[in-house]
Amino acid sequence: MKKQLAILACKAASLVGRWLGKGSSMPGKVALKICPDILARLSLPENVVAVTGSNGKTTTVELLVAALEKNGKTVCWNKEGANQIEGVATMLLRYADLRGRVRCDMVVMESDEQYARHTFAFLKPSLFAVLNLYRDQMTRNGHPEYIYDRIAEAISPEMDLFLNADDPLTACLSSLGRNTTWFGVAEGVLEEEKGVYDDGKYCPCCGGEMEYAYRQFATFGNFACQHCDYERDKPDFEAVSYDEESGNFTVSGRAEATLHTGLKTPYSLYNMLAAFSLAVMLGVDPHGAAQALSSHRLKSGRAQRWNVGGKDIMLLTSKHENSVSYDRSLSLAAKRGGKVLVMVDAISRKYFTGETSWLWDINFNKLNVPEVEHIVLAGQYACDLAERFSFTDIPQEKISLMRDLDRLPELFDDRADQPLTVVTCFSDRDKFIRRLPAEAQREEIA
Ligand SMILES: [Zn+2]
Repeated sequence: MKKQLAILACKAASLVGRWLGKGSSMPGKVALKICPDILARLSLPENVVAVTGSNGKTTTVELLVAALEKNGKTVCWNKEGANQIEGVATMLLRYADLRGRVRCDMVVMESDEQYARHTFAFLKPSLFAVLNLYRDQMTRNGHPEYIYDRIAEAISPEMDLFLNADDPLTACLSSLGRNTTWFGVAEGVLEEEKGVYDDGKYCPCCGGEMEYAYRQFATFGNFACQHCDYERDKPDFEAVSYDEESGNFTVSGRAEATLHTGLKTPYSLYNMLAAFSLAVMLGVDPHGAAQALSSHRLKSGRAQRWNVGGKDIMLLTSKHENSVSYDRSLSLAAKRGGKVLVMVDAISRKYFTGETSWLWDINFNKLNVPEVEHIVLAGQYACDLAERFSFTDIPQEKISLMRDLDRLPELFDDRADQPLTVVTCFSDRDKFIRRLPAEAQREEIA
């Protein structure tokens, strides 16, 4: 009786919440008040998938859900990325009937790296995907090894794992679960690239020296420890070719398909490969999954593009405090050439920190190419950026400062033939967008 009442109350509260336009966790809170063990009393579908990682979890979840839904599956998922018990209760009860059966084909949830261990105490996934682990928001997360330990605590031996074969730290988790399915990118598919620091130098299992036959970026590559027998596993789903011009890539292994990614970065390739593999593992036909993914336009897209009187403007949202994410955006900015705006005004949108040591982890030297004509450093931390840039080989005369963001419109009035690429974070993205002139035309990234 209590259970039914809690389910009804949650549904009613969801309706009211939607009507008022707020609150993702409030309905769950109400249900938990009425019936504190409501989650234990629900019957869940067989497949409960959780996705975590330092980067790309929101995008991968969005892509996966698109691939599942476009292929006729009903998916219960946390659009708002709720990690707390209240959010999970809201998500599940929305799909529950009065007998407590969650009526959907599968549950897909994005999990915070740190909170997975708490979330899984009341909703244990049958399949846990870990996309990658590297330096990210150190003031909140600490080092990747710290996050590794927190994720390890979330894994139980009956859980199936889906792991990145190319990332030695993530791949280490394999021993903790039941079966591991691997995804990865074959040797030679992506250009090799080095960052300013090397977290892949030593084996995460034994501390011995790691050797790479090939390295795509950060710690990703074909690794083998020189001391113990730890080495990269052959991926079950492997991207075996990638055409940077078109954004097309082919997958081989447990499924064969060709996919298209709109944003032509190695990141998008990894995210889409992960979503594709998971969709196939969850019963979607590879052809259907590839079609759904290739035509999907990301809502959580990290790239946006405008045309202002012929001037091509691209905004790349990287995460501050995440050098791998930044490095990828800088590669793209260097390729586009013209003018590059690097903006750090607030470091995080979620908490306050004035800590800027992460700037030293970013390879700004990537912008030292003749195609990049001018670099503008903007925002409250423009001087910190300038200090960091003084340690690059970029000629100082190419660099200028703009601490006051109200001067941003000056960047739209100059040469129309010179593209502008903006590299910034979620916390500052809208500060740029709202200063775009009214005539700015939004363009699709195909
Ligand atoms: Zn080793």
